[in-house]
Amino acid sequence: MSKEEKNLSAQMRGELDQMVPYEAGKPIEEIRREYDLDFQPVKLASNENPFSPPPELREAYLAEFEQLNRYPDGGCYYLQEKLAEKYNWPAEGIILGSGSDEILDCLAKAMLCPGSEVLTADPAFIRYRMGALMMGATPVEVPVDENLDFDLDRMADNITADTRWICFSNPNNPTARYVNRKELTDFISKIPDSCLLILDEAYFEFVDQPDYPDGINFLRESLSGGCPIVVLRTFSKVFGLAGLRVGYGLMDPRLAAEIHKVRPPFNVTRPSQAVALAALEADGYLEDVRKSIGDERRRLVLELESRGFNVVPPSANFMLVGTDADGGGELIYEELLKRGVIVRSMAPYGLDRYFRLTVGRPRENDQFLAALDEIGGF
Ligand SMILES: *Cc1c(COP(=O)(O)O)cnc(C)c1O
Repeated sequence: MSKEEKNLSAQMRGELDQMVPYEAGKPIEEIRREYDLDFQPVKLASNENPFSPPPELREAYLAEFEQLNRYPDGGCYYLQEKLAEKYNWPAEGIILGSGSDEILDCLAKAMLCPGSEVLTADPAFIRYRMGALMMGATPVEVPVDENLDFDLDRMADNITADTRWICFSNPNNPTARYVNRKELTDFISKIPDSCLLILDEAYFEFVDQPDYPDGINFLRESLSGGCPIVVLRTFSKVFGLAGLRVGYGLMDPRLAAEIHKVRPPFNVTRPSQAVALAALEADGYLEDVRKSIGDERRRLVLELESRGFNVVPPSANFMLVGTDADGGGELIYEELLKRGVIVRSMAPYGLDRYFRLTVGRPRENDQFLAALDEIGGF
């Protein structure tokens, strides 16, 4: 470390020493340059919706242009009202954010401090760990079981008097495995009132298993006793609006009142509010996306299994694909990159036999399979 770096580090909060910046999936343009490709690479790396948003949202987006000189509505009134109606949940108990990520960030700022514990799984969405570390709290990460399912019994055993948050996404990112209604009911019965359960349901709309629980029902029940619950949802996935950055949390209005104290005042832009509002009317688009992703997910599983891969049975718009060799996931990730197909290596998660594949449009999935066949030899 140079002298300058040492000085800079001394000016930072000590908590930052343990942190590394979030690493996103590689952008399409970067891969195109790096590998000198003369075609558009296919990105199946970030669990995005592969379809552009429905064209009828364009008007809502453009209509905001004339008003960009004005700050947005800080409370997202219309969006809040519309979501309140959709879920039959009080508007005061719905907080909008620049992605559900920001809700998580606000919850961290409001609730965590040195000495707090954040109980989650390993592997899990990295943002829970980052939220804990940022506030000087301790992440407690319970390994998933041999099927890569959450080990809820062991998680319950790890609850202490210092546990402030218990959080996981259902289905889990990166495993695409889900907790069913009975498992969730049993787990919640073991959580003391002193912990907040954060149910991140970013992929809610993609799950078609009949025993998949709707966290909002559990949130409703929590009002009459039991641990407090926050349900996180987002416009980034099935709504096809990841680039817009809108997500929300549903919670007890009394908790929301506290969280608003740390929410940046104009955190959801005008175009974001307008487009998200219009997106809630685009039922046809949602159905088309769900159908295509569901069909393609089934097809990809079969195609991959027929090539000898073991696919962890998925319940979202992505899946973990296993190879038989140590480091096999990283190897395939690199070979696919050379062929203009971007998937996610799971080596950073300690799952180096696996890569994570996001379900793309049918033609993109064909391109992925063709690139895989070119690599061969697994
Ligand atoms: C994609 C994703 C989200 C969504 O984050 P936004 O900030 O709303 O884009 C949240 N949680 C998990 C686990 C995700 O994979």
